[in-house]
Formats: sequence, structure tokens, C-alpha cells
Amino acid sequence: MSRKHLQELIKNLQEFYKCPSCETHYHFDDIKLLGQIDQYCFVQLGCHACSMPVLATVAIGKTRKRRPKTDLKQREEGKFLEKGAISAMEIAEFHRFLSGWRGSIAELLK
Ligand SMILES: [Zn+2]
Repeated sequence: MSRKHLQELIKNLQEFYKCPSCETHYHFDDIKLLGQIDQYCFVQLGCHACSMPVLATVAIGKTRKRRPKTDLKQREEGKFLEKGAISAMEIAEFHRFLSGWRGSIAELLK
């Protein structure tokens, strides 16, 4: 990702994301880029007011018109759609859980 892209991404994050805990807008320094896979960026947002950590996945580049390919059957897909989008709170909870996990990933998936 280019520097310009990154700056744009951070600007967007600052504009559209707020801390789910105290609703503070993020500072430039609160946003850390963790990595990039294909057209997805993983960022960590650390609230400067209450230090609540939030992980976010941001799609960059052109958005595809086609539906993303999944290995889910149509019925299963409907089931997930019913559940709705994952909220920032849920991601924060998951992050907290993973941060405290001392075992291996394989153990986690059992
Ligand atoms: Zn906060």
C-alpha cells in the first residue's frame, strides 16, 4: 500500500470510527496498521481516552461488484446474514479473549 493510500485510510478511520466504549474520536497516533492481506487491511485502534483496544478490518482499493466467494452453502449463508454484522464491541471482546489466551491456536479450535 502506498503512503498516500495509508494516509487516506487513517483519515477515513478518524472520520467514521469512534471508540465503542466512550465514543471518543481517534487520534492519528491511536491508529496502528497491523498488516494487509489482499485488499483488506487490519488496523488496531487504541482509544487515547479509555485505552480500549479495537481491531478493525478495512477493505481498500476497488470494491468488487461480485459477491465474495465463500464455501458456505446458500442456507448457511442465510443463517449468517440473519446474525447481522459483527459489532466493534464483539471484536473488542474477541481481542480481549485472544490477548488473554495462553494456549496454542489449535487448542482454541477444538
Ligand atoms: Zn474510549
